[in-house]
Amino acid sequence: MGSLGSAEKPHAVCIPYPAQGHITPMLNVAKLLHARGFDVTFVNTEYNHARLVRTRGEAAVAGIPGFRFATIPDGLPPSDDDDVTQDIPSLCRSTKETCLGPFRRLLAQLNDPATGHPPVTCVVSDVVMGFSMDAAKELGLPYVQLWTASSISYLAYRHYRLLMERGLAPLKDAKQLTNGYLDTPVENVPGLRNMRIRDFPSFILTTNPEEYMVGYVIEETERCKGASAVIVNTFGDLEGEAVAAMEVLGLPKVYTLGPLQLVAREDPPTARSSIRLSLWKEQEECLQWLDGKAAGSVVYVNFGSITVMTNEQLVEFAWGLANSCRQFLWIIRRDLVKGDTAVLPPEFLAETAGRGLMASWCPQQEVLNHPGVGAFLTHSGWNSTLESLAGGVPVIIWPFFADQQINCRYQCNEWGVGMEIDSNVRRDAVAGLIGELMDGEKGKEMRRKAEEWREKAVRAAKPGGSSHRNFDELVRHVLLAKD
Ligand code: UDP
Repeated sequence: MGSLGSAEKPHAVCIPYPAQGHITPMLNVAKLLHARGFDVTFVNTEYNHARLVRTRGEAAVAGIPGFRFATIPDGLPPSDDDDVTQDIPSLCRSTKETCLGPFRRLLAQLNDPATGHPPVTCVVSDVVMGFSMDAAKELGLPYVQLWTASSISYLAYRHYRLLMERGLAPLKDAKQLTNGYLDTPVENVPGLRNMRIRDFPSFILTTNPEEYMVGYVIEETERCKGASAVIVNTFGDLEGEAVAAMEVLGLPKVYTLGPLQLVAREDPPTARSSIRLSLWKEQEECLQWLDGKAAGSVVYVNFGSITVMTNEQLVEFAWGLANSCRQFLWIIRRDLVKGDTAVLPPEFLAETAGRGLMASWCPQQEVLNHPGVGAFLTHSGWNSTLESLAGGVPVIIWPFFADQQINCRYQCNEWGVGMEIDSNVRRDAVAGLIGELMDGEKGKEMRRKAEEWREKAVRAAKPGGSSHRNFDELVRHVLLAKD
């Protein structure tokens, strides 16, 4: 589809949930729309906007012709330390309870002819910013929701009711978290395979169904039924069965558009490709360090933007890496160790000097595409999962929360690219799994599978591929639809 003339230019407002793993895929959707001739307004929270200016400079949010940034408050009180991961339950509650008014006002401002922009013609919102549905519907606009996690996790949230009907949830007491109960198989979950209770999202595996996050995730995931369409950052070969099962749950048409970072990749780069919204400063020296390394020789370790651990767990990972005798690139986010600063033993630093690089944030997609990287020790957030598949890199997984348990289950059991580390992490397990992945027969097979998935991901994303075609269909049949 070519660009549209300026007289009839459509205008999409894109509103992500304000965390890194949601902003990046929404930015890719926004770039794709801009490339198809849409005027785009990308909505950040004031908190993140200020943070982006600090980490990347004013230019990061200055926009380019036809692509601008706007802000709304997140509703949280100002923070003392504004360079850390925000508390997710508080952010969920405050966006849900306070953002509709500011978003409504923003749409009214954008529709003021004095701005010189074309009027807003559609809204693309994160599923968990579902308050925006009311504002879009009041204006009669097509309203598309982006689910930034896996389709399998969407099903797992929606099937919480099924766990309740079968008396498997809520948990009866905290002992059930540790006494093997979570390993109970759960048969016949529509769209899902070989599930155990532990593979359901952490938010719903609680003794208290009145907890805020339980009601929140159930309400937000059900609200998608009212959208004009749902888009998912995945691809048909990977999750086709789960996507079909999503539609059966009363959703409008579900479009698979992933991996979005591949679909949105521009070759040659344009001004648009220079827009990056990383909330932490990326340390480019990680790539230079990788440049000298033999193919597949480095273990890359990164637990994403939200995972936290205790210092004891950090130390177990450290000795696991040291004892693996491999080279490693380890990203230790500033607030990775909760309420504390990460403290690594001096003996570990002495022993690994020269073969390990530690940094606080890196350009992960480039790292996972670097030939020097042979394994990824990850928490299996959905973006990291897709980025490792797109890079053809097998994974060792230490899932933390939300959808990461089910992503882990599928990577290990269905997709053949992962091995799991027990939540009670021990140095011997870390070193053992790294050895098996880098040298063992199982590792060889996982690398072969990872390469197969890479090829399938690339095929889905390129012109003529399923995700690429779906994007064109979404634009034609939903975003440019007249009623
Ligand atoms: N990321 C990055 N550099 C880092 C750590 C993370 O660019 O050092 C990016 C990563 O590429 C991914 C996102 O942050 O796109 C994290 O999203 P994910 O869904 O994997 O996990 P979350 O942070 O939401 O737990």
